[in-house]
Amino acid sequence: MTESTGTTEVQTIGVIGAGTMGNGIAQVCAIAGLTVVMTDISDAAVQRGLSTVGGSLDRLVKKEKMTAADREAALARITATTDKSKLASCDLVIEAATENEDLKVKILKDLCSFLKPDALVATNTSSISITKLAAATDRPDRFIGMHFFNPVPLMALLELIRGIQTSDDTHAKAEAFAKRVGKAPITAKNSPGFAVNRILCPMINEAIFALQEGLATAEDIDAGMKLGCNHPIGPLALADLIGLDTMLFIMDVFYQGFNDPKYRPAPLLKEMVDAGYLGRKSGRGFFDYSKPAK
Ligand code: NAD
Repeated sequence: MTESTGTTEVQTIGVIGAGTMGNGIAQVCAIAGLTVVMTDISDAAVQRGLSTVGGSLDRLVKKEKMTAADREAALARITATTDKSKLASCDLVIEAATENEDLKVKILKDLCSFLKPDALVATNTSSISITKLAAATDRPDRFIGMHFFNPVPLMALLELIRGIQTSDDTHAKAEAFAKRVGKAPITAKNSPGFAVNRILCPMINEAIFALQEGLATAEDIDAGMKLGCNHPIGPLALADLIGLDTMLFIMDVFYQGFNDPKYRPAPLLKEMVDAGYLGRKSGRGFFDYSKPAK
């Protein structure tokens, strides 16, 4: 039976990549009652993805946000496999594999060779051109960017990105899908950083310039933005959370993509990355994470 709502026509969702984002996407789809096929390249990756979903659903049961029976039903809707041919019958496949353009092009070309012709294809890329990836498929009009935010089950936003080829019908179906899985969609045109990172990352970069110039301490810059602008986390602490290497990569994408010096990465950001101070993941960034939090 197809449980379609409004213009949603998708019922079986494929997710390529069972990592941080892929298993989160699989979880929200399964909770919404959709059938999910989640693939990865190794059994270990597939099992890791599935057990992350299981653990996350356990926490929802403990917090009484979900019943144990609903947890079992949601898990039963997910087929986790290394057999990519199981994606053939999906209505929508969301590619959430490692961020590498050549890899994504290869995955998409291969997928289109066996995916049913009317299926939609989406990518969760955060930095690669949607127009370029669409052009690598046999269905550029039925291709769209679906940029989920981390952690997927908790973040309300789904940023939809239209390549120049994306049809209105594909966009409408993607919007309906977003609502079906409990997300609030916004739409951006294809452009480096799309909408959210385009605004967020230069703001963080500016905070790093301010620190570098000795304008204020790291603590005061973050306190200023939290208390004065109501941000839930300061820009420097957020940079540490994102990873300073990822921040540098994104600023380089903007700098090269727009060919505009206003996006040049702060020299202090480069210096921190060169030193191996990558933020939380390395134990040190703009703040020190080497001691356990109180
Ligand atoms: P990750 O490293 O946690 O997971 C990527 C997974 O893809 C791995 O399990 C890997 O084995 C798998 N993979 C690699 N090649 C594959 C193939 N050929 N077929 C199937 N699976 C394959 O990465 P992630 O953080 O989940 O990122 C995935 C995508 O989501 C990237 O495009 C990234 O830019 C984007 N994204 C990440 C975040 C974030 O905060 N992590 C936020 C938004 C978007």
